[in-house]
Amino acid sequence: MKDCLFCKIASKELSSKIEYEDNDLVAFKDIHPKAPVHILIVPKKHISSVADLNDADEILMGKMIMVAKKIAEEKGIAKNGYKLIFNVRSHGGQIIDHIHLHLLGGEPIGKIIV
Ligand code: AMP
Ligand code: ZN
Repeated sequence: MKDCLFCKIASKELSSKIEYEDNDLVAFKDIHPKAPVHILIVPKKHISSVADLNDADEILMGKMIMVAKKIAEEKGIAKNGYKLIFNVRSHGGQIIDHIHLHLLGGEPIGKIIV
């Protein structure tokens, strides 16, 4: 989608610190990390938010969680645990209108809100 920051990152029009990529998803470091590990898992396809998903996106959403799990294992944070967050639209604190899953860990995350 034109003028969408995360579409531009997914297509490499803008650079980012990519941690994982496959045909459907890209994962990159959050530019303002709130924890030692703070990675965003993002579908390459533009979907605005969880509230904009439709039934055809079910498998893609499952993949997002499985990729978050895999990255957490690779980063060595799975044993102690981590937090996964979807902010949804304005009351949910969503700033970038391209669906993304926050993976936060590497220290006790407690009640951090991103
Ligand atoms: P949200 O509030 O859920 O929409 O979160 C958006 C996240 O994107 C924030 O944690 C930002 O720090 C992060 N962010 C914004 N611009 C970039 C960028 N160019 N590269 C990586 N992360 C970004
Ligand atoms: Zn987009």
